[in-house]
Amino acid sequence: MVVRRPTRKVMVGDAAHGFVGIGGDSPVSVQSMTAGYTYEIDKCIAEIHKLAAAGADMVRVAVPEKKDTAALKEIIPQVSVPIIADVHFHFQRALEAIDAGIHKIRLNPGNISDRAQVKEVIQACKAKKIPIRIGVNEGSIIERKDKQKRMKELGGVFSDNKHGHFLAIMVAKLEEYLDIFREEDFHDIVISAKSIDPLLVIAAYEEISKRFDYPLHLGVTHAGPKETGTIRSVVPLGHLLASGIGDTIRISYANDPVYEVQDGLELCYVLGLRTRIGAELIACPTCGRIQVDLFKLVQDVRKRLMNEIKMPIKVAVMGCIVNGPGEAEGADVAIFAGDRKGIIYVQGEKVANIPEEEILDRLLFECRELEAKVLRGETKLGDKKVDILPPDPIGELGSGWEKIQSEKSGRGMSLTVVK
Ligand code: SF4
Repeated sequence: MVVRRPTRKVMVGDAAHGFVGIGGDSPVSVQSMTAGYTYEIDKCIAEIHKLAAAGADMVRVAVPEKKDTAALKEIIPQVSVPIIADVHFHFQRALEAIDAGIHKIRLNPGNISDRAQVKEVIQACKAKKIPIRIGVNEGSIIERKDKQKRMKELGGVFSDNKHGHFLAIMVAKLEEYLDIFREEDFHDIVISAKSIDPLLVIAAYEEISKRFDYPLHLGVTHAGPKETGTIRSVVPLGHLLASGIGDTIRISYANDPVYEVQDGLELCYVLGLRTRIGAELIACPTCGRIQVDLFKLVQDVRKRLMNEIKMPIKVAVMGCIVNGPGEAEGADVAIFAGDRKGIIYVQGEKVANIPEEEILDRLLFECRELEAKVLRGETKLGDKKVDILPPDPIGELGSGWEKIQSEKSGRGMSLTVVK
């Protein structure tokens, strides 16, 4: 079990949009950011709805221009989750967003550093109990003359660290910025320190987690397309979360932000940091024993589970019954493929032996039935484990690959590689 680092707690939201806690005893929250223009009100609302439906706890929007903050007045009443305004360069955008009813502000110390301006934002947030994220980014940290002395001191502290220079700038910048907030006695603060380098992200958050007790927003900036950004993001975020560091996360991809929410939630689920909503899918990678089009089946099952099942039913889709039972241990519903057919087990009981083309519908039917039984109080998820004695793999199953190769033209069999 992950032991979370104790932090202060801030609350984001209101009665109409719900409250999301960050830090303290709150579960790790998942957020994302709209990819379109905020001033395109209908599109922005549609995107926020889509992210909320995917499970985002909060959604951030960019407000580079006055027309964006003006749009917030129409957007906020029409969405169901708390909204965060991402403010850079113009402190007035923060004031306008606060006036429009925003639930949280993100300020970048790299481009809004004037003390009087920051204080104005702090006072406006304080009056409305709106938290502020201080979001330091590797790309926008600027060395300031008045911090050179402190950075020199920190340079000595971090001299052995590969990322010492960045850490020195970052800590100096945070200390400088937090001074302004302390002067105003404002503590509804979340901190982030993002970089594109996963090892630097780990070093930065480990360092600030020792120095400040404010909750932390984890993220990797400019992580790239999902295909490579997943590894770049999940390695540092998984490491930090497993160490108990991190209170809210945003995975960022150059792709549909729904993927950010899905992957952020999955990361929290697999680390036991959140209670899973919806089914959990386990699937084998296939091997030379495969006798059905498993890659396609797994994708079809995944999509339908996402749309049709709300309970955390553990579903296993296994290519055969040789290693399948071991790999599916603990599944509530499991299918083991045979020679273009599937044997379905529910809570350890064999319920069907059906042709390949019927597997998808029957598997979903069994999941829905199980969900209904749980709702009626007739059973509990995780009650029984799949417990099957595997047959002789050679005598009874033979080589599926050979069968697929020899018969695929005649029976329309194909192995689909899903990208
Ligand atoms: S479950 Fe069967 S087909 Fe899938 S990887 Fe294991 S042995 Fe291969």
